Amino acid sequence: MLYKQFQNLQLSELGFGAMRLPLLPDGSGTIDQAELDRMVDAAMEAGVNYYDTAHPYHDGKSEGAIGRSLARYPRETWHLADKFPGHQNVHGVKELQPAEVFEEQLQRCGVEYFDFYLLHNVNEQSMAYYCNPEKHCLDYFLEQKAKGRIRHLGFSCHAGPEALQEFVDGYGKDLEFCQIQLNYVDWKLQNAQKKVEILRKAGLPIWVMEPVRGGKLASFAEETEAEMHALRPDESCAAWAFRWLQSVPKPTMVLSGMSNLQQMEDNLKTFSAEKPLNAAELAVLEKIAADMQGKIPCTGCRYCCAGCPVGLNIPMILSMANELQVSSSMNLMMRYSALGDGKRAADCIACGQCREACPQKIDVPAEMAKFAEAISTQKTWEEICRERAAAAAKA
Ligand code: SF4
Ligand code: SF4
Repeated sequence: MLYKQFQNLQLSELGFGAMRLPLLPDGSGTIDQAELDRMVDAAMEAGVNYYDTAHPYHDGKSEGAIGRSLARYPRETWHLADKFPGHQNVHGVKELQPAEVFEEQLQRCGVEYFDFYLLHNVNEQSMAYYCNPEKHCLDYFLEQKAKGRIRHLGFSCHAGPEALQEFVDGYGKDLEFCQIQLNYVDWKLQNAQKKVEILRKAGLPIWVMEPVRGGKLASFAEETEAEMHALRPDESCAAWAFRWLQSVPKPTMVLSGMSNLQQMEDNLKTFSAEKPLNAAELAVLEKIAADMQGKIPCTGCRYCCAGCPVGLNIPMILSMANELQVSSSMNLMMRYSALGDGKRAADCIACGQCREACPQKIDVPAEMAKFAEAISTQKTWEEICRERAAAAAKA
């Protein structure tokens, strides 16, 4: 395992993000604790010592699951990071109080302190809460740090460079690290390059989230994958995304939201040695990034979902919209039909809540309207079924 120095700690360069944990195959959305334990065992054996969770992950179930899994190992052998979801206090979902949430999180995780703790999702909207002195949010967490219940305090950020700069200028002196979305597509698409410059200048070590963009950089069209494979026969597409991080921004910590043992093993292999990309390999990724600029950049974080008055599965619909941009298929139409009446793109009432909540600044209602129009020109799954039944009857 590769390690990076952070203050007096040696942190594994790969951190296990508990946002997309393995689920039982029964469709209930229940975390598969046995598979998670196997993944944590593999990570611990390989030397991963950083584990990251958050209050809303898996509807509040991630903290308990990762806490139970880690409790099988001595406390001093792992670092646990958790986050205060202050961003939810400005998106009108519910008003969360720092003390109440923090005590609940310690209990859920089964720990007496957090090694790392972050203000979750600082962005242009949530700064209205985080920077409101009457809320005493940061004050509370600084008090917990003084009491030893938080060892290191930082923040995660989906803000643009200007708001990031403003936040760093105002609060950077009290914070020790910053987690940003960083990968070879967002280097330009979300101006992550500028964010890296701001954080470096402020002396804040960089933690990376979404290194594989919610899995979007883990597989490509056949010809693209063939080109990558010819250059690096032993490395997966996901590994290329990590190699880019090792080659260009070189952050302190890379969090990967792994969902099964196979992904864990692939990542452990990648982080066993540095193998930076050469100029030809970097050019391949630049071309992929250029091709992806036009697509809807949804990462599947689900920050928008809780407040949707219609209860739409927004990331799933946006992923279908992206798929339709490339080509239509019977499979796509079947999945779209399975969303159910009242739960499709055309049912969006354009209230705009999701646009405010979205860290990627996606104009979701506009995308819903475009997709609703585009998919209405396709044959529905029901029509496809009727045609197939008629053809079968003829035969
Ligand atoms: S704009 Fe549409 S998708 Fe977004 S929250 Fe409102 S109804 Fe839901
Ligand atoms: S639309 Fe935005 S907030 Fe919603 S899942 Fe996608 S990236 Fe997250």
